[in-house]
Amino acid sequence: SSLIRLNRYLARAGVCPSRRKADELIASGQVRVNGQVAQLGMRVGPDDIVEVNGVRVVPQTQALYILMNKPHDTITTCDDERGRRTVLDLINLPPEQKNGLFPVGRLDRNTTGVLLLTNDGELANRLMHPRYRVEKIYVARTARPVKPEEAEQLRRGVQLEDGPARAVQVAVNPADPHEIALMIYEGRNRQVRRMLEAIGHEVVQLKRTHYAGLTTKGVRPGKWRRLTDAEVRRLY
Ligand code: URA
Repeated sequence: SSLIRLNRYLARAGVCPSRRKADELIASGQVRVNGQVAQLGMRVGPDDIVEVNGVRVVPQTQALYILMNKPHDTITTCDDERGRRTVLDLINLPPEQKNGLFPVGRLDRNTTGVLLLTNDGELANRLMHPRYRVEKIYVARTARPVKPEEAEQLRRGVQLEDGPARAVQVAVNPADPHEIALMIYEGRNRQVRRMLEAIGHEVVQLKRTHYAGLTTKGVRPGKWRRLTDAEVRRLY
């Protein structure tokens, strides 16, 4: 039959990026099917009306790929229960087109720079998987100047509470040693801040300048553009 589990239906429609998150949403009572509060594990089909917080969920249609220059003071979740400004709030498209759009990975609230958003769960999962070694370059400002031997430690690797982490490339700005650029392949939570903390440095500003070769060139903070077909093909 064409019935699928509600958590899969919600994840596919892009309401949130994973089935686990969808289960949390169902358990919290925010999802209704044909007007009734949904139950974990239930199945739905094309004739069912699924709503999240009163908004109809539209099954996926067109793939959308967006590059944003994330500004300060925005959070990379789909929906914030405390009402803080999310990156999705900055995308001035009609709600039905934004349905299913979510950020590829996370940036901290006050990290700026390149952020991709898509409703293509398959591409998002690939980009976030460490196996694909997507290149990310971050430029951090530190409270104290970074010494060359400290930069070298980041290249050799530091121990974080969730395992070792290393930078593929590191460069301290010779004209301004408070500025350090790091290339990393993974995207663990707060990884750059934690790597610098591990060598005794506090990050006061953090910007992602590159993600899979994409930059914010021509996109001012808080603005966005669609990826070109060629850019999408290159990501796949
Ligand atoms: N590393 C961090 O510490 N923060 C980010 O936002 C991204 C990478």
